[in-house]
Amino acid sequence: MSLQTPFDHLVFDLDDTLLDTYGQLIPPASREACTAMIETGLATTLDQCLAAREEIARTSARSNLYRALVDRFGVRRDANGDSVAEAGHRAFHDRAVERDISLFAGTRDLLRDLRTKYRLSLVTAGAPGTQQEKIDILKINDSFDEILIVNILRGETKGQAFKRIQDTHGGVPERYLSIGNRLETDIAPAKRLGWKTCWVTYGEYAYTSPTDEFELPDFEIADMEELIPTCRL
Ligand SMILES: [Mg+2]
Repeated sequence: MSLQTPFDHLVFDLDDTLLDTYGQLIPPASREACTAMIETGLATTLDQCLAAREEIARTSARSNLYRALVDRFGVRRDANGDSVAEAGHRAFHDRAVERDISLFAGTRDLLRDLRTKYRLSLVTAGAPGTQQEKIDILKINDSFDEILIVNILRGETKGQAFKRIQDTHGGVPERYLSIGNRLETDIAPAKRLGWKTCWVTYGEYAYTSPTDEFELPDFEIADMEELIPTCRL
C-alpha cells in the first residue's frame, strides 16, 4: 500500500465484470428460468418467454424481471403468480454452471499484476453454490485476498458486504475502488460509503442510466483492458 497508488483496495464484481456472463451464461440460464416458469404455470411458450425476457432486461433492467413476465403473460388458472415468478428467479440463479466458462481475455494477468500493488476483493451476489461453482471453474480462488458471496436468495445485499470490508480493513473510504457492471448494486452502495467507483458498461445493464447522485460513477469503462489507464491504476 503506497501513497503513489490512487487506492489501497480494489473490490471487483464477478458477473459481466470479470466473466462474460452475458455471452456465456445468460442464454442457458434464461432458458431454464422460462422452462421452470412455464412448468409452474406461466401462460406462454418457451420462445415467447425468452423473447420477452430479453426485451424486458434490455429496456427496463431495474424491474423484477420474473414478476414482469408474470404480469406480461399471466398464469394458468390453477397457478399462483408469486410462485411462478419465484420459480423463474430461482431457476435463473441457482443452477449448475457450464464447465467451459472463461474470464475475459487478459483478466488473469491483470489481476496478478494489480495484486502486487493493491488489496483485491471479490464480491459476488447470487445463489452461493452457483457463484462458488463459477469461482472454482474459473480457478480464481487464489486471485484475491478475500472473496465474499452475497446470498440474494436470503435477501443479503452487496452494500452489507462492502460495509463489512470497510469495517474490517479501515482507512479512508476514498482509498477503496468498487468495479462492476450494475449501477444499483456495484456503484450506488459503494458511493454511499464514500468509495470511488468504476462502472463497466457491459451486459444486460449496460444501457441503464444513473437515477441519483449515488449512481453516478467516478469512472466508466467498456472492458477490463480499460481499467488501468482509465482509473489510473
Ligand atoms: Mg455483475
